[in-house]
Amino acid sequence: MPEASNRMATPTLIKLLSKLPKAKSEIHTYSESRSKSQAAGAAHQWALKIPFKRHLLHIHMQKPVNMSTGAAAVSTVSAASCGLGKQQRRRLAAFDFDHTIVSQNTDTVVRDMLPNELISSKALTDLMESECWTEYMAEIFRLLHAQQVQESRIRDVIRCIPEVPGFVRLIKHLHKRLNFDLIIISDSNSVFIDEWLRAHNLSDCFKAIFTNPAHFDEHGQLQVRPHHQQTDCKLSASNLCKGRVLEHFVIEQDLRFNIRYDHVFYVGDGNNDICPVLRQRACDFACARQGFAMERHLIKNRNKLKLRAQLLIWRNGFDLLEQMCALPQLQGQSIESHPLETEIGRRASAAAPAAPPAPPEQ
Ligand SMILES: [Mg+2]
Ligand SMILES: [Zn+2]
Repeated sequence: MPEASNRMATPTLIKLLSKLPKAKSEIHTYSESRSKSQAAGAAHQWALKIPFKRHLLHIHMQKPVNMSTGAAAVSTVSAASCGLGKQQRRRLAAFDFDHTIVSQNTDTVVRDMLPNELISSKALTDLMESECWTEYMAEIFRLLHAQQVQESRIRDVIRCIPEVPGFVRLIKHLHKRLNFDLIIISDSNSVFIDEWLRAHNLSDCFKAIFTNPAHFDEHGQLQVRPHHQQTDCKLSASNLCKGRVLEHFVIEQDLRFNIRYDHVFYVGDGNNDICPVLRQRACDFACARQGFAMERHLIKNRNKLKLRAQLLIWRNGFDLLEQMCALPQLQGQSIESHPLETEIGRRASAAAPAAPPAPPEQ
């Protein structure tokens, strides 16, 4: 990392830290980590790394920070530019997964491998109506294991879910030709999403996938945990606030890697995709699937919700890409004139279905 720049007097540092509640919490995280230089016999023994504006502050101290007094015996402070130094301006597309990239709900597709009488049992129905979706799915996975449904069969079922028409092409085009960073924020789970992306050669297109972590345990039972626990956001489920995830990602990219997003596209279909788009800026785009809950909710409550982002309504991946390519905001050097333009037009008219029936929301 290109280090070097400034030295900062201790009082200035303490004043700075006192103004940064986030930095204070990171002191707890980092104050116990001894710097490598200690081993080399250097005077300072403790190191903090705190992102501040465009820099990562490296603070070397002789003792850990005393949190009650704020006192720190600081030996050196240097500010190193995060990442590559020069600020990068990029575009971000954040995708929901179920009914956005894939044409079905991964959880309900796997649930339907159970016999009907089990799915409609009172115990399962009660769990479904409870707050936490991951608890419901954990019980489904337990029952599948009890029914001796093998891991390989579950993976097969996931791989066979068709894409929403045009989404494989859309993702590859945004990633390879339009220089987008791509992420997924989904209430499905990491096993299903990884399996499907791998089967469609899309794993490398995504910079990050935020979902409920899952794995097959040593007995072959699929275990899933909530992505996080939250009660702050009433628009979102307790196990996943997609708005919080999106905000954190954008801030982290800025602080750690000096990457700023000129435009953020959020692409979704369900009610749990409302929270992230309400946090978007006027320069961003809320992309809602036509005929699905997200679109209905946004249009019905447009004035009340005060959506700042521009609304794009899409029917499939082909017409979404066509709409994106037509945006004046995306006319730049990275946009290539490509034969795909004609192809998109042709396939969009062939592939666009009428508004589908309302799906289960996920
Ligand atoms: Mg969805
Ligand atoms: Zn939320």
